[in-house]
Amino acid sequence: AELAWTRLEAIDIQVGRTGALSPVARLQPVTVGGVVVSNATLHNEDYIAGRDASGNEIRDGKDIRAGDRVQVYRAGDVIPKVADVDLAKRPKGAEPYEFPEECPVCGSPAVREEGDAVRRCTGGLVCRAQAVEKLKHFVSRGAFDIEGLGAKQVEDFHGRGWIAQLADIFLLEERDRSSDRRLKDLEGWGDKSAEKLFVAINDRKRIDFHRFLFGLGIRHLGEAAAKDLARHFNDCPSLAAAAIYAAKEPTMDDASQAALDRSPAWKEFLSIDGVGRTLVRSLVLTMDQEAERDSIERLVKHLEIVPPEAQASDSPVAGKAIVFTGTLHRMTRNEAKARAEALGARVSGSVSAKTDLVVAGPGAGSKARKAAELGVETIDEDDWLALIGGA
Ligand SMILES: [Zn+2]
Repeated sequence: AELAWTRLEAIDIQVGRTGALSPVARLQPVTVGGVVVSNATLHNEDYIAGRDASGNEIRDGKDIRAGDRVQVYRAGDVIPKVADVDLAKRPKGAEPYEFPEECPVCGSPAVREEGDAVRRCTGGLVCRAQAVEKLKHFVSRGAFDIEGLGAKQVEDFHGRGWIAQLADIFLLEERDRSSDRRLKDLEGWGDKSAEKLFVAINDRKRIDFHRFLFGLGIRHLGEAAAKDLARHFNDCPSLAAAAIYAAKEPTMDDASQAALDRSPAWKEFLSIDGVGRTLVRSLVLTMDQEAERDSIERLVKHLEIVPPEAQASDSPVAGKAIVFTGTLHRMTRNEAKARAEALGARVSGSVSAKTDLVVAGPGAGSKARKAAELGVETIDEDDWLALIGGA
């Protein structure tokens, strides 16, 4: 890691896709390990104040103020951060930094929930910063990945009032044809590039379920969890129904988490590998907000969402519920699971009447016995490889 000292000129706040207010240090440009650095992260309000999430002192309790001489730390590709402050060089009259309690973009209250290190704008879709970040995420690589529509274009189109919500992306062409403010006339665009963009957008109207889910930009919903959810629910209405069902549970406070865990709606979500309480809570909160639900419904009208089963429908194990048990010799358990899922199978950890196939290696115990009891077809690793060999 490389270190350098410079002056912190100002502390700015950036508002992210999920409303997080992130403090950024604007620095007098300084070379750190061969790279000129003029911005660094300050993490959150506790970090600026000189304490960690539990209230313990960091940097011996020294806070960070505009005007301070600060030490910048940079390691590899990681965003540079402010590591230390030299109190001896603090200018007279430097005031402690007051973290905003309102969103600097939309003015909505910014609140910090119990146990969250981060203060968040409560403006939701009315917050321009959140809306733009959401749109940028939607067109990003793991999501809709629309060629010719990147962060820069999204900012531009949003600023012109052409796209406010996700669904508006799919109305861009219609807007363009019925307006005298045409895309082709903008600087940097022409007949060809405009036409190409509309084609790229139309191409993405048919979208894999997991890409669609990830694209929604729901807090805590990463690419891996989007795939897990897509495989489990297979289509959008099933997932939406489950989330709405889970949202009907009377209480969402921590004290009653045990009760929620026992409810059938939550049980279904928590039974999915890779899906935890934090994500379920976030999904439920999203589906419980009318504005969010409306926005998703408007979007879905333009799309053909492709279920994971359809993607691998040619495989002999597509749509089958499979359990691996015992020792596998030619692949790890994770590799076996990933391969099966790529072929459209659902992999579960326990055998039930719904299980279609058990792949049992040496040392398979209770699961193999249960499969025998239930009359579930059981094969060994070689049979399994032969079965999927041609797929
Ligand atoms: Zn805001």
